[in-house]
Amino acid sequence: MAKGKGTVIIAENGQPASKRAARQLRQKFEAAGYMTAGSLDRGAELIVCIGGDGALLGLLAEYDFPGLPIAGINTGHLGFFQDVSSRKLDEFVFNYSRGNYRKQIYRTVYADIRGAGGDGAAERLKGLNEIVIRGGKSHSTHLNIFIGDSFIEQFCGDGVVVSTPAGSTAYNYSLGGSIVDPRLELLQLTPIAPINSTAYRSFTSGILLPPDKTIGIFPEYPKSDEILVTADGVEHEYLGPESISLGFGKETVTILRFREYDFWDTVKQKLL
Ligand code: NAP
Ligand code: MN
Repeated sequence: MAKGKGTVIIAENGQPASKRAARQLRQKFEAAGYMTAGSLDRGAELIVCIGGDGALLGLLAEYDFPGLPIAGINTGHLGFFQDVSSRKLDEFVFNYSRGNYRKQIYRTVYADIRGAGGDGAAERLKGLNEIVIRGGKSHSTHLNIFIGDSFIEQFCGDGVVVSTPAGSTAYNYSLGGSIVDPRLELLQLTPIAPINSTAYRSFTSGILLPPDKTIGIFPEYPKSDEILVTADGVEHEYLGPESISLGFGKETVTILRFREYDFWDTVKQKLL
């Protein structure tokens, strides 16, 4: 597939190795006939994101999930999303300009937070990996959890994580959640330190949900009415929200894969 030469946005995470790779890539793309940009240009054909997974998550938050295809260059991080080595920039530009890649499309998760002041409208947070809900000031948090219209339980513990398949290898995995093959479309609700005692009963395993189900969370406030909602590592604090609903978002994230990419090879290499 031959491509017309458009604009490539080059973003990096500020580390010296990433800045160096960005300089080299600008030259290589321009030598190959592309224009380059250092900030969001909605007409661009590609975003190159240099760093680790954290750099990609930061870029999605900064650009508010721009929808453009993204290629990740890894400068020495874990790099689940960043599978092009910064030592192979020539090969990367060559393969990109010839269309030698596959597009991998990830779904995102949203949280609508209602009743925490403001004008009454819900505030929406978005994540590629996950959205985490916990109490403020290290208090245990009490959350009435609904799946669709069904009340499931009053959860007591540190909080819950709602993870996409992409995020299943991140925080979710550290909590004992399942690693999800990205070809499956599901959301995973995983507890953080659930309390089980004669006073409280909370689910202890992850719960897997189909894409059309929404999760409703109605906090109870026995101690503190602060709720912390964290989307891909960025924390937001709310005072006394009435409800938080979560589900698959309409935004998707398209990552270009250049090698013979196999998810389970990546899991074996990076996690085991
Ligand atoms: P960070 O503290 O640097 O992230 C922790 C680690 O998670 C990094 O090694 C990061 O990779 C890796 N990571 C991110 N997304 C991943 C994914 N989808 N699959 C496998 N590993 C992944 O912070 P950050 O770089 O800004 O990343 C934010 C993420 O950290 C959150 O979305 C959350 O999933 C994760 N987190 C994990 C824990 C935990 O496991 N206990 C606690 C809080 C947050 P890079 O080195 O390539 O950046
Ligand atoms: Mn990181």
